[in-house]
Amino acid sequence: MSFAGAYKIHIKGLVQGVGFRPFIYRLATEQNLKGWVENRNDGVMIKVQAEYSEVERFISLVRARAPVASSIRSIRLLNSEGEDLDDFYIHRSNDYSEQITEISPDIAVCSDCLEDMKFQSHRLNYPFINCTNCGPRFSIIRDLPYDRPNTTMHRFRMCKVCYEEYTDINNRRFHAQPVACNHCGPEYEYYQQGRVIRDIEKILRELKKVLYKGGIVAVKGIGGFHLMCDATMDQTVRRLRSIKSRDQKPFACMFRNVETIRKYANVDDKEEKSLTSWRRPVVLLKELTKLSPSLNSGLDTLGAMLPYMPLHYMLFDEIDLPAVVLTSGNISDEPLIMDNQTAFSRLGGLVDAFLFHNREIHNRLDDSVVRIIDEEARLIRRSRGYVPEPLQLDLDVDGIFATGAELKNCFCAGKDKQAIMSQHIGDLKNYETYNFYTEAADRFMNLFRIEPTYVVSDLHPDYLSTKFARNFVARKSVNKQNQRNGKIQWIQVQHHHAHIASCMAEHQLDEKVLGVALDGTGYGEDGKIWGGEFLISDLDGYNRYAHFSYVPMPGGDKAVQEPWRMALAFLYQSFGEKVSQYYLEFLKTRQPEDIKMILSMIKKGINSPLTSSAGRLFDAVSALLNLCTESGFDAEAPMKLESVVDPRIEDEYNFEMRQDQINFNPVFREIIEDMQMKDSTRMIAAKFHNTVARVVTFIAQRVRDEKGINKVVLSGGTFQNKYLSETTARWLGDLNFEVYQNKLVPANDGGIALGQLAIAAKKRR
Ligand code: ZN
Ligand code: ZN
Ligand code: FE
Repeated sequence: MSFAGAYKIHIKGLVQGVGFRPFIYRLATEQNLKGWVENRNDGVMIKVQAEYSEVERFISLVRARAPVASSIRSIRLLNSEGEDLDDFYIHRSNDYSEQITEISPDIAVCSDCLEDMKFQSHRLNYPFINCTNCGPRFSIIRDLPYDRPNTTMHRFRMCKVCYEEYTDINNRRFHAQPVACNHCGPEYEYYQQGRVIRDIEKILRELKKVLYKGGIVAVKGIGGFHLMCDATMDQTVRRLRSIKSRDQKPFACMFRNVETIRKYANVDDKEEKSLTSWRRPVVLLKELTKLSPSLNSGLDTLGAMLPYMPLHYMLFDEIDLPAVVLTSGNISDEPLIMDNQTAFSRLGGLVDAFLFHNREIHNRLDDSVVRIIDEEARLIRRSRGYVPEPLQLDLDVDGIFATGAELKNCFCAGKDKQAIMSQHIGDLKNYETYNFYTEAADRFMNLFRIEPTYVVSDLHPDYLSTKFARNFVARKSVNKQNQRNGKIQWIQVQHHHAHIASCMAEHQLDEKVLGVALDGTGYGEDGKIWGGEFLISDLDGYNRYAHFSYVPMPGGDKAVQEPWRMALAFLYQSFGEKVSQYYLEFLKTRQPEDIKMILSMIKKGINSPLTSSAGRLFDAVSALLNLCTESGFDAEAPMKLESVVDPRIEDEYNFEMRQDQINFNPVFREIIEDMQMKDSTRMIAAKFHNTVARVVTFIAQRVRDEKGINKVVLSGGTFQNKYLSETTARWLGDLNFEVYQNKLVPANDGGIALGQLAIAAKKRR
């Protein structure tokens, strides 16, 4: 036995559950290399006995041909001892390392599998077909390592044919953990008024009938239930709204294919790339033609996605519709329903049919949402297809648990230098969502072997995420082991500092920057509600350089739901009491007593907390233009304002700096003047957006002149406004600023936990 050399190759990254070991095996045998490959909890270890030059070539082929859903973060080559090997082997998974394993997100069904459905005798029309390149992953994993017994597929015993494929190295289903077929795998079950159908062809015909009749079906998917109906039937779409209980949020639609989407929305190259990627998010597009008026309540954006489960493809083969509504199967703000029992009890009597399946969902996942801004895909909601892929940081975040904020909550756990963001949890405002939060947090800590020693939450004392931190620390501190190891620590981080830090962490920045955080709500250190913030910050801390002027929010939270109150608050600041005599369209929709009452609340400061929120400013202008006086969902008023912007308008309004406060009184005075002109709404909306972008460049220039800071970090939900985000970045770029924005995590509160994690890591050090 002779060999030239012996090497070990340690590959880290997203390399498990994506067909990496068989890929390595096939490549090694193709190259006539001897050795072995095994999964470790911290990646993949390969042993190769060959000449150094052969090993180098092998590594470059690994990089070039890696499976589509894998992502290699690092490859380390180590010298090793020779072994007596006559072939290349795949070793079974070992669970000995306590280091992180990167579990693949769920992957859309691949084109090879779609072909197999037509020809493989045991998988003809089999709707749970999958292979090493596609199928469910995170949604079904219960424990490490990623092997079938540790997934919810454990209860399905592979048939002989599947087992042969599963154990045949040259088969595409080699070690595909969820492998299954018509004889041995999960099945659909259709329920309609006491009737049960299990034959998939019959099910599809029934689905077609019920959809064509304007029916609504609860369909179990990868990460939870969807509610499905014909997207072109307005009456049904309206009924769907009432089922979801007065929810005004736009509904996402699944389209047959990209060509069909193009009939209803603008799709550029970047958008097409996101739509067709294996992650299959919902992509927010510019709408051209309405599928039905009630889909997106007057907005000009359309949330579109393409089929990603075999069933979706089969359905579009059966029906003639261009698109179906496919919205989260939940009621109001409750979490997505993920099991058959709950679906039946919560939705029974409301929907017309159920399509269940018996592959259990372990980790609940909503559809992810992406918007292309400045030619880049930005995550608006990060869930299916993305979670639990970690984000690589430049900081040791091991053992840190960041609990996130309140709205659109995600939490984040640190492992080594990696941040693992949770799936989208939702608004932590009710018991059910909080339960989902604690369940998901438990599962995360178990799955990723994380024992937090450091917990970080928002500064807000009443957020349920803050309460979670408090309880967690209290519980762990009475645990004996932790007493021995010293107390678990808990810190709180200001909301907008966390926004800025989330973006800094993404871009691995750790220096003084101008952080511009524009959003709806965040608890300030002075107890006021912040949200139009200019922070000179690094990860260690911040200095509030400037902020939007404080205005009263008459009625507190009520003013968030009723933007007309904010319009009145801003108008009162600009004009005083005489504003009630102005002839303004939006005031005509209100009772005179209500207007009087709100004005007196503002004047006397009764139940009118002060805010510097950018969201409330956008609300006010939207209401003033009578676009949205009462908000049906989060950010409706700003979204409506954005949707009427005339991008050809370059004008701006004036604003005033009063010490460190940016005052918008001149803006409101000039808007009132502009409103005298006919058809001025689109122009006013544009001028207003331009003004906010100008405020940012104005402050940025001052900060650069005074402090020599040239890096500007833009974050907060307001920057999900495409026009504002692109205009601000362009103007800053023209002035030679370096501009950074969130891409991998949402700029909204869904990204907060990443910022909290980074700040905590710095503090601990
Ligand atoms: Zn496949
Ligand atoms: Zn089988
Ligand atoms: Fe925020």
